[in-house]
Amino acid sequence: MQNEKKILLHVCCGPCSTSSIERLLSDSWTPVLYFSNSNIDTKEEFEKRYKELLKVAALNNLEVIKDDYDHPSWLSAIKGYEKEREGGSRCLLCFEYNLRRAYMKAKELGISHFTTTLTVSRFKNSKAIFSIGEKFDGFEEIDFKKKDGFNRSIILSRKMGLYRQNYCGCEFSKEARSKV
Ligand code: SF4
Repeated sequence: MQNEKKILLHVCCGPCSTSSIERLLSDSWTPVLYFSNSNIDTKEEFEKRYKELLKVAALNNLEVIKDDYDHPSWLSAIKGYEKEREGGSRCLLCFEYNLRRAYMKAKELGISHFTTTLTVSRFKNSKAIFSIGEKFDGFEEIDFKKKDGFNRSIILSRKMGLYRQNYCGCEFSKEARSKV
């Protein structure tokens, strides 16, 4: 379609994609969904989250692209910061890793804009994500937490019967959650 406002949306998981997609569509964007999450601790969990995203994509009739799963590469990117608390330096490196992948994919596909669902989570600092995103051409600062995005993602995921994981993604977040 001509004059289509295409945007590559880096998606962390199906639940977070729900309200982000709703917001982008209402702002006249056409999102192409990019599942790129080598931060996830196991391939099994990676595939499980991907399957949930496929349900959301089908409901919205949107294209999904799946990145390769390369956890060793992600581990080397955060090396030395494994013990950091959630929300600290490890997460900043993790955001950068995934945003770089999204930037490269957008470039490869000739899509001039990209953004991420990571800002939906109330556990993630949107300003920190924006300060990393601005290093990459075409990054759109969209705060999906705004307009009640986080609550909306919960409502929509329940409605769709989506699996909602109880840890962020990496083994370190899983370990921390198991201690709570
Ligand atoms: S807690 Fe989440 S954001 Fe932080 S490093 Fe782990 S997977 Fe990445």
